[in-house]
Amino acid sequence: MANLNLIDVCKVYKGNVKAVKDFNLEIRDGEFLVFVGPSGCGKSTTLRMIAGLEDITSGKIYIEDKLINHLEPKDRDIAMVFQNYALYPHMSVFENLAYSLKCHRVDKVTIKQKVEEVAEILDIKEYLLRKPKELSGGQRQRVALGRCLIRNPKVFLFDEPLSNLDAKLRVTMRSEISKLHKKVNGTFIYVTHDQTEAMTMGDRIVVMKDGLIQQVDTPVNLYEHPVNIFVATFLGSPQMNIFQGHLLEDKVILHDTLSLQLSEKIRNKLISGYENQEIYLGIRPNDFSLGNAKDYDIHVKVDLIEKLGSETLLYFQMPGREESTVASIHINITDDLSEDVYLKIDKEKLHLFNRDEESILKINEINFIKTKISLDKEDAILNHQFRYQNFVNQCVDENIPAEFHGYMALPSQDFSLVKQSEDDIELEVEIRAFDAYSDKKVYYSKLFNEEESRITFFSKRNENLTKGDQVKIYFPSKKLSIYDASMLKITINDPIFKPIQVISLTTIGKEYYILDSNKDFCKNKYFKIEKIFDLNTEMIVNVKNQKDENYSFRIDKNPDLYVGLLLYTKHLKR
Ligand code: ADP
Repeated sequence: MANLNLIDVCKVYKGNVKAVKDFNLEIRDGEFLVFVGPSGCGKSTTLRMIAGLEDITSGKIYIEDKLINHLEPKDRDIAMVFQNYALYPHMSVFENLAYSLKCHRVDKVTIKQKVEEVAEILDIKEYLLRKPKELSGGQRQRVALGRCLIRNPKVFLFDEPLSNLDAKLRVTMRSEISKLHKKVNGTFIYVTHDQTEAMTMGDRIVVMKDGLIQQVDTPVNLYEHPVNIFVATFLGSPQMNIFQGHLLEDKVILHDTLSLQLSEKIRNKLISGYENQEIYLGIRPNDFSLGNAKDYDIHVKVDLIEKLGSETLLYFQMPGREESTVASIHINITDDLSEDVYLKIDKEKLHLFNRDEESILKINEINFIKTKISLDKEDAILNHQFRYQNFVNQCVDENIPAEFHGYMALPSQDFSLVKQSEDDIELEVEIRAFDAYSDKKVYYSKLFNEEESRITFFSKRNENLTKGDQVKIYFPSKKLSIYDASMLKITINDPIFKPIQVISLTTIGKEYYILDSNKDFCKNKYFKIEKIFDLNTEMIVNVKNQKDENYSFRIDKNPDLYVGLLLYTKHLKR
């Protein structure tokens, strides 16, 4: 088992074919990761670079902390299963399985024991004496898997291993490989162009297009929260319907004829600046359902009905889209449907994209609450209510007015429904909407008795709060930061870090550098970034200066606060 790290990996083939561009990914120990995307998007090339079968044009690949760019494939502790099995035709199954151990001069008794162990796991014990040509496709594929297993590698790579099998066998092998992953608990990286394989097998999926990663996430999150139209339409069958439209106040309007009210959840997630703009609307086929003449969103004439058994597909015209729109509804297969159909649309599930085809729905990562800040010796009193201890010492600027207006910044991920400490800030909120992600629930709430203040908070727990519930939520005061009226961060939570200057991250050649502006600490110096720890709302960046000295920086990630990008370093006494 091992984790892998790919940093700025690029592959350019002869003829300037840019197959993989700036590939950055951390693959976790024991994870089942799937690369998916249309043919030619660079999946196999990435896999082959990891295996060492293809040179890396630029970038770095680490297994654990070891750079493997220049290691021979055989020294990488990686095993790869190909779609054409790559078995030796003249050898028996036993010999095929034993081959790599023999090459490593493992003794005969151990070889026999290991072959039998692997044959047992893969259920091929009775074929050990047969040649590959005497096996079915599925059995050959199992032998190919067995050859990987027997070496007990750190990482297993699969390059479309099921594409030569018929549909039924593919389904069986799919679940066998998933079971195998649970059994051996290794790191699996699996390439496929088949979205069903990706959705059913992967812990996480990397969606690629034209050599670029589009999105990396769990199957559920990719399906429910795609970051762009490519991901939205690549996953899910039938495909998501995409419409041209525009936003008008709290509605989306298609072709001036159909108006859909945005739900409270969608309004909470809508990135500001898109009000009254041209957009694309996405509706998945299964987010339509049958309505009736009194309760419906759209009344359509159906051109075609396809009864598939468990679902029924309706094809019809809708404003904002030239092609047919498809709805997938659940009705009894024996029921007849007239051409005239009233449909409802699940408005909690609408997807909105800008004209660059990127999603304009985003969870609010930091809540800003307007706050009056009054100094009280070293502390500050916020809104006459909360004490912020040691405020003065945590301020970036030494000249703090005795009283001013600013904002409390409360990251959504730091809330809890349970009081953790006496210092916690307690807020009473009313739940307005919620959203499920595979790793958390997101609640959109408003401060009780205050119409204006909205709070988004995450919860990992399995509670089921619903709209209208009033709850107390708690925020650890040590995670609180204060911003001034122009939205510049003026406090830092960790007193050993001091901000030094607004900086910019600049790419020079292949490496990233932090280019300093004018403070003494890094005047006229370049810092080479060694490692970036991407946290939810900030990045911790380890850098080396020209003298090979190490420093750590924190960078605020909130894109809305780009002007407030601060670079922190351990305070240096000058
Ligand atoms: P995928 O596995 O997603 O189908 P590949 O990684 O095989 O895609 O290919 C990515 C791109 O690189 C494609 O445009 C392909 O034509 C090109 N390519 C792959 N192998 C080579 C090669 N040996 N020489 C030149 N171009 C290649």
